[in-house]
Amino acid sequence: MTKILLTNASVFDGLGDELQPGMNVLVVDGRIEEVSERPISAQGAVVFDLAGRALLPGLIDAHAHVFAVNLVEARNRNMPLTEMTARAVPRIRAMLDRGFTSVRDVAGGDVGIRDAIAQGFIPGPRLFVGGPALGQTGGHGDHRSLTDDRLDIDYNSSAFTFQCRVVDGPDEVRRAVRNEMRKGADHIKVLASGGVGSPADAIENLQFSKEELEVAVHEAGVRGKYVCAHAYTSEAIRHAVSAGVRTVEHSNMIDADTAAYVASSGAYVVPTLVAYEETAKHGERLGLSAYVMDKLDLVNRAGIAMLGICTDAGVKLGFGTDLMGEMEYAQADEFAIRGRVQKPADVLRSATSVNAEILQQSGRLGVIAPGAVADLIVCDGDPLRDIALLSEPHKNLRLIMKDGAIHKTDLSSH
Ligand SMILES: [Zn+2]
Repeated sequence: MTKILLTNASVFDGLGDELQPGMNVLVVDGRIEEVSERPISAQGAVVFDLAGRALLPGLIDAHAHVFAVNLVEARNRNMPLTEMTARAVPRIRAMLDRGFTSVRDVAGGDVGIRDAIAQGFIPGPRLFVGGPALGQTGGHGDHRSLTDDRLDIDYNSSAFTFQCRVVDGPDEVRRAVRNEMRKGADHIKVLASGGVGSPADAIENLQFSKEELEVAVHEAGVRGKYVCAHAYTSEAIRHAVSAGVRTVEHSNMIDADTAAYVASSGAYVVPTLVAYEETAKHGERLGLSAYVMDKLDLVNRAGIAMLGICTDAGVKLGFGTDLMGEMEYAQADEFAIRGRVQKPADVLRSATSVNAEILQQSGRLGVIAPGAVADLIVCDGDPLRDIALLSEPHKNLRLIMKDGAIHKTDLSSH
């Protein structure tokens, strides 16, 4: 039996508004056993006196791409999976180093990398994966060149990327969803509107028919899973949510009416603002075209307003980042960006208990409570006053624990 006792902690439990000082938390064999303001006696436990430091649930990123090792998709295309995996390993470890103990991969991440992490072969966050995102011909996932005019192409062939699979019509969607479910996917990602990084589709294009989306939702739903959709405009968000999509990604251009509709449907919005800020800074240097940079400018300007619109409408906001390739180092900057508009406690709930709901892991992840998985971080200062503390994890995070095992700490124990 492995016991770790954290004493004198100021606890943010994932749900409340404030730190609760003077708390003690006992971890036994990877689970939180007890949370108490009274001293806990635990024979044989390793004890860390946190001296009043903040103790938070491990952070959750609900929108990331562990295999997006290059910003420019074309550079990923001819890369052997072995090389892609080798390049992904330090990205994955860096996420855990920033305090993210769970990450939802929404295009590319597969059951192999998820299970390799779970088995301890690669240090990293617990992954939730959906395999390749599903998109239509000419949609956000179709990265063919203009000269590739084949209609009878085998979309499962190596001509297509590991991150996206092109499928057209309800039958192909059904087969693709069933196939990912067969392998053990945690969710299904669909591309329901145009995107920034793709060469041939405007942001406001609707993608997939209602019927195609409904087939995906049905096939995931009968197995207890759900669909997340990439969408930017109000029209695209309604298109997805009215088909039963449970989480809408990005959503930068949502209006107040649509936000009210999303809230009443019980769907979630997962903003990914840091991706646009970082790509705007570095995209040109990293080889993005002028067309892509123009689209980026559009969504970047709308993104911050979206936070206020969704908060006012009562939309459940998750927390995502969506950083590609070289820019993944900026993952924790999303906290400071969200803090420009939202209260720190709201941002923290998004990155812990709300994201755990999104992952269908309520009560198990994203909270400090008896029975929950012992994913915990210790932070200097009060992140409920200054959320930007979490944007400097190397300076401020003093302990990172995943599954009850200490990944990193510079605190001493006795
Ligand atoms: Zn994404």
